[in-house]
Amino acid sequence: MRQAVVPEPHKITYREVPDPQLEPDQVIIRVARIGICGSDVHVFEGKHPLVSFPLVQGHEFSGFVEQVGSKVTGLRAGDLVTVEPAIGCGVCARCQAGLFAQCERLLFIGGALAGAGSDLFAVDARFAVKMPPGVDAYDAAMTEPLSVAVHSVRRLGSIQGKRVLVLGGGTIGNLTAQVARAMGAGPIVLVDMIPFRTGLAEKLGLVTLDPTQVASVEEAVVERLGGERPDVAFECVGKEAPLNTCIRTVVRGGEVVVVGVYDQDPRTQMILVQDKEVSLIGSLMYTWEDYHTAVQFMQEKIVNLKLLQTHHFPFEQWMEAYSMLLEHPDQAVKVMVDLI
Ligand SMILES: [Zn+2]
Ligand SMILES: [Zn+2]
Repeated sequence: MRQAVVPEPHKITYREVPDPQLEPDQVIIRVARIGICGSDVHVFEGKHPLVSFPLVQGHEFSGFVEQVGSKVTGLRAGDLVTVEPAIGCGVCARCQAGLFAQCERLLFIGGALAGAGSDLFAVDARFAVKMPPGVDAYDAAMTEPLSVAVHSVRRLGSIQGKRVLVLGGGTIGNLTAQVARAMGAGPIVLVDMIPFRTGLAEKLGLVTLDPTQVASVEEAVVERLGGERPDVAFECVGKEAPLNTCIRTVVRGGEVVVVGVYDQDPRTQMILVQDKEVSLIGSLMYTWEDYHTAVQFMQEKIVNLKLLQTHHFPFEQWMEAYSMLLEHPDQAVKVMVDLI
């Protein structure tokens, strides 16, 4: 089978490798779609401190079950599946509680473990998630980022009726706004300086704001929320300025959920965090429950994933897919590699 390898930063090579051998508790999946994540680009550029080369990328993907191990129940050849790529040790207290993102020995498919960048992918059937009828291979490949959004909203006790500010209108920011709305949030304002992204959010009926077009982001957010400050702010960019916008703008006693991944430690406005009694809440990945909620949302069609799928490249053009994201962030949101 074909496999795409990243031997060193900024390079992808293709090689022929033997097909995987089926173990009794595994399924072999014919990979259909691989979504590219911000973190993939980070790794590809050699900016991720915890990853070593060579590696095979691909953690947001879907495919069709091709072979089923003798001990596997509940999956059949032809089933459309995705894979939950965060693999906890399974035995520690955190894993037992379903919180494998907090496992000290967490391994990640497409990071320390080989990703889905090949025609066939063998995985322990426990991590394969079957898609319900009506969900296609494109949306199935977005279960992972949708689960990130579900988790970020669940990090709050409840979002019911709360005023929400979302910083960042890329895949995660947009999905976080959609999930917040689906879970009963009050008015939502999404902030991004890229018109294409605010345009997508507006197509979903969300109120948006371009921070470069207003004198004060804080005042413009309050105005769009009917004169009130947001109860909750989601920082989905991973940069200092939007984090501090969240801290400044949120109501006294409000919550800031930190979803973005930072490549440099931001200078945080700690004076305000203390003085306003702001809760800073970190959010990483998802739990099993979040994964299943994401699938349910897709089945019920209460989130729109299609709108975010802006570009498709064939398997052989993975490099071009990265170039698209790196060179045209003003046009690309979810870029996918299509294998079949
Ligand atoms: Zn991802
Ligand atoms: Zn564990």
